[in-house]
Amino acid sequence: MVKYCDICGRTIARVLQKHSGRALCDKCFREDLVTRLRDEVSRYRMFTPSDRILLALSGGKDSFVLLDIVREIHDTGKIGIITIVEGVEGYNRADDVFWIIEASRNYGIDLHLTSFKEFTGFSLDEIVSLDRLKKLETSPCTYCGVLRRRIINYYARSLGYSKVVTAHNLDDEVQTYLMNLLRGDEGRLIQTHPLSSTLSKFFIKRVKPLRKIYEWETSAYALTRGFKFQEVECPYIRFRPTLRAELRNYLYELERLKPGTLLKILEAVDRYVERELLKKALKLTELPQCSICGSPTAYSRNTCILCDLLGKIEINTKLPF
Ligand SMILES: [Zn+2]
Ligand SMILES: [Zn+2]
Repeated sequence: MVKYCDICGRTIARVLQKHSGRALCDKCFREDLVTRLRDEVSRYRMFTPSDRILLALSGGKDSFVLLDIVREIHDTGKIGIITIVEGVEGYNRADDVFWIIEASRNYGIDLHLTSFKEFTGFSLDEIVSLDRLKKLETSPCTYCGVLRRRIINYYARSLGYSKVVTAHNLDDEVQTYLMNLLRGDEGRLIQTHPLSSTLSKFFIKRVKPLRKIYEWETSAYALTRGFKFQEVECPYIRFRPTLRAELRNYLYELERLKPGTLLKILEAVDRYVERELLKKALKLTELPQCSICGSPTAYSRNTCILCDLLGKIEINTKLPF
């Protein structure tokens, strides 16, 4: 039997949205995502019409969805894109980068294409082999995460963007919340919330408009929009922090048993953090600066994590921030 869309009732439904119990046609599914994203942006004032926003895009389906929707709700003249090539053998992201180049050209959006090699003088592979030579066994994801953050903030700051927009989805955000809860790290828990303020005047605020969109929804959206993606897995994936990987599996199982669970967890933690933020009217102390490069660093530290990481493998460059 043919099932018609639960919203418009006219078109054949193609997407079963388990968490809402609705079957939707492509058009209504797309409109649902656009509305939810727009609501989330305005609810937390992630960006306003005057903001110059920098989208950090890796090239996958989440990037596609973010760009596709954000360019519809924000002045394209005030959007820029940054894409960073890590430099990992066998993980050639030429295809991923190609559609971003095309899209930025078609939409008239500024594209800043850079790489670890350009910024530090070394590709991620080269950094990892220096690490292995020193028998440090640091996870490549650690270098990657810290460097990406540094590069994105540097570009946003030096090019005068007022917000950084990332493509993290609901699945990512719930994993992050739970990781911080399991570690008892209240500070980070609060920092993950969209209303938290940056801890340094040198940091450009990062926002995540897709934070209430399920990962499966970004895949479905990309498919219905005809975006062909083949997620090439990063070869370093086996070094990925295990806690996040395990949480991911547990959460899939919970969501399967009770659709809507991820959204409920996110909203519950959001409410908790919002109450805390109100209560404390947090008086934030500006973060201290790294004695080597000047970048903001944690309260208890003298140097920043990036300088420490690179110092251990004897890359002694003073990177901008
Ligand atoms: Zn419909
Ligand atoms: Zn430093």
